[in-house]
Amino acid sequence: MGAQLLDGKLISAEIIAEVGAKVAARVAAGRRAPALAVVLVGDDPASAVYVRNKKLACEKAGFRSLSYELPASLTETELLDLVRKLNEDPEVDGILVQLPLPKHIDADRVIETINPLKDVDGFHPYNFGRLALKMPLLRPCTPHGVMVMLEKTGVDLVGKDAVVVGASNIVGRPAALELLLARATVTVCHSKTRDLADKVRAADVVVAGVGIPNFVKGDWIKPGAIVIDVGINRLDNGKLCGDVEFDVARERASWITPVPGGVGPMTIAMLMRNTLDACLNLNP
Ligand code: NAP
Repeated sequence: MGAQLLDGKLISAEIIAEVGAKVAARVAAGRRAPALAVVLVGDDPASAVYVRNKKLACEKAGFRSLSYELPASLTETELLDLVRKLNEDPEVDGILVQLPLPKHIDADRVIETINPLKDVDGFHPYNFGRLALKMPLLRPCTPHGVMVMLEKTGVDLVGKDAVVVGASNIVGRPAALELLLARATVTVCHSKTRDLADKVRAADVVVAGVGIPNFVKGDWIKPGAIVIDVGINRLDNGKLCGDVEFDVARERASWITPVPGGVGPMTIAMLMRNTLDACLNLNP
């Protein structure tokens, strides 16, 4: 029997519609709509697609979106000045600086300059630290989207063995903190992990964020496990695929996310939710 699919497109559309309904009610009550400032530096084609999708989601949610599309030659000082200006602008609730940034700009410094209350990506050390301390405020979007998908399975995560493959700051680490917050027992794997296959074989929940196509083999998946594939990899034939060997894994798992149409759309939905939350926190 094959796994049930977790349809990220559908869940994401539901969340954006919920956010949109709250925004409409707020506007009907005479308050302004939430506003998200999206900053894109340079001409990375994948980033341009992400930014376009984020702007489209803003429209659907009824947000005002402010777009700053800046040349790759922008200096770090100029970018920091823009971030500070947006921090101080009372009409702006959320600030998103699309990563990756050109090499001459220190992304960590940029993230740390964003007002944590407007950090709708949830990347600022303040927001990351709050998640680590079990008092999340603006949660990193992709791992938060993973948790919403897990919630949709109806499976109680308390005491489950979760394995996160990948330990990056935007995927693996915050996903591990989210799973810990949900009271799972969490193992975080990275490029130096030994006996990875055995660790995955023992997992009730597998979250993969590695960036290597089909890296997690389908026959590593414990029968009945839940598989969340965060990977988005473009193959030579132009098709997208995840980090998990989907066809084999799907025969063993109880629930699985497809790529595309899985975690990807959830990230944008959680960005919309964070922007509404930021607006409500800043302008109660
Ligand atoms: P990243 O920064 O390159 O991190 C990759 C992680 O995988 C690192 O922790 C690395 O370990 C680990 N890794 C690499 N090779 C490994 C191996 N052989 N065995 C075990 N672990 C290994 O990548 P990322 O930014 O987290 O992205 C991961 C994937 O998620 C990519 O496909 C990306 O496109 C996708 N992604 C999707 C979304 C979404 O919205 N769905 C959002 C963000 C990213 P070390 O720490 O030891 O280097």
